[in-house]
Amino acid sequence: VVHQQVAFNSCSDSEANRARFQAVEHQYDFVIVGGGIAGVTCAETLAALEPDARVLIVSASPVVKAVTNLRPVTKLLEEFDVEERPLAEFQRQQRQRSGCGSVSVLHASCTGFNAETRQLRASLANPEPSAAGEAAEVRIGYGELCLCTGASPKLIPQARQHPDLVVGIRDTETVADLSKKLSTCRRVLVVGNGGIATELVYELRNVDVVWAVRQDSIGAVFFDAGAAQFLLPSLARPGGARVDKPGEAVELLPTDTTALTDSWPVFAALSNGELLGVDLIVSATGVTPTALLADGGVGPALDAEGAVAVDRGMRSSLAHVFAAGDACGCAGWSSDGETSSAAEETRLWFQMRLWSQARQTGSFAARCMSAARRGESPPPLDIGFELFTHVTRFFSYKIVLLGLYNAQGLASGEYEALLRVTPGVEYVKCVMRNGRMQGCVLIGETDLEETFENLILNQLDLSQFGEHLLDPGVDIDDYFD
Ligand SMILES: Cc1cc2nc3c(=O)[nH]c(=O)nc-3n(C[C@H](O)[C@H](O)[C@H](O)COP(=O)(O)OP(=O)(O)OC[C@H]3O[C@@H](n4cnc5c(N)ncnc54)[C@H](O)[C@@H]3O)c2cc1C
Repeated sequence: VVHQQVAFNSCSDSEANRARFQAVEHQYDFVIVGGGIAGVTCAETLAALEPDARVLIVSASPVVKAVTNLRPVTKLLEEFDVEERPLAEFQRQQRQRSGCGSVSVLHASCTGFNAETRQLRASLANPEPSAAGEAAEVRIGYGELCLCTGASPKLIPQARQHPDLVVGIRDTETVADLSKKLSTCRRVLVVGNGGIATELVYELRNVDVVWAVRQDSIGAVFFDAGAAQFLLPSLARPGGARVDKPGEAVELLPTDTTALTDSWPVFAALSNGELLGVDLIVSATGVTPTALLADGGVGPALDAEGAVAVDRGMRSSLAHVFAAGDACGCAGWSSDGETSSAAEETRLWFQMRLWSQARQTGSFAARCMSAARRGESPPPLDIGFELFTHVTRFFSYKIVLLGLYNAQGLASGEYEALLRVTPGVEYVKCVMRNGRMQGCVLIGETDLEETFENLILNQLDLSQFGEHLLDPGVDIDDYFD
């Protein structure tokens, strides 16, 4: 980071502004807090859109996350890998980028910001020894600020009292910690029913795994009961996880506080009444967005989940403060007083705090910030916001989720589900409303994602097919063409 005062491009060069920023140690047109996928995508997009601008990422982590090996699956669906890069390497790569501006990166934790003066404070991770012994904190002036601070795993109650016995997975550091702990484990309890828990129970080997789920079926965040039933046999392998006793851990009882003499370091009391001795508990019960506080407690408005509520221009309630990725909440888009056609446009999109969405919101936030710098209104939402899309792998099956794949937000009776299942091969479910496809779950190599994406986006009336829509003999592709 260059220590110098530079012109503040996005505001007028008035005396007042000069006075306001003269004490600031660093000055940037765009500052992004957080170097996850949202932050990095936002910063790199800004550098491409505004090559003359100064762009800074403030990262509490010593690594940033970069998207690599991008593979388009359909028009909207993309597969990619996520790679962690040390900050110095990322900075070096930025300098080598041609045709666009470069992004600076500061290894520091942002401790707060002032939306009035457009300054933020950050504690340096590796402060230079200072003769005067000042606090290792810098102040950074910004033109536009984007909060990409991600989310932290929710931990089960009592986890903080027993940090050695309860692990919440967040990043490679916590994964490394988990692997180390697992090497001496006989039995592990996985609590939670989302993507992380689902992937973990399948991958864990050489340890007795008990999976505590609250719902009636596994992977409930992604799958309906039918899809869960389709996937369940994959766990029935030697050493596979046990999910025959659902319930959620409610209380941890370290052995030294119980009269139990079994040789387990901790007992988990499950809500089904079972007292289970385990070596380790993995808490994978979802995430809580990380909110960054503004000075004086005047932070951006948060939504019910604690995320920074953003409008369709990724703007928070504070001027010149945007948010993207896991840290932002878009739930208000359906009820923010926009015209009904705007609400209709994003009816089939929702935020699930996924990599693809961190990339999507980070990139769009950059376009909105660029417009703000030029004094323009935010650009219209791009087509990616018209349809929720996600491709992943669970239990070695390819999984594609499109639109309202689990009839999210639809009242029962308002829709019907069409199913095609070949055990061990594929599971296809379409959610239909008034003959129009609202979403689908595709498990296995179905090769239907492109056709179904088009059918959902175009809201074609498919009533004439009725329940035969998924018959292998019906060539929907031909019809669509
Ligand atoms: C274990 C795990 C597995 C996952 N697997 C998948 C998957 O397979 N597929 C998928 O699509 N999604 C997956 N997700 C979800 C996905 O990781 C997130 O949706 C995505 O990483 C969010 O990106 P982000 O940039 O918003 O936040 P993050 O990647 O969390 O980055 C936020 C960054 O901000 C930094 N930060 C926070 N506060 C400050 C501060 N005050 N100052 C400076 N820096 C700060 C943090 O250190 C962090 O580096 C997984 C999540 C977890 C926890």
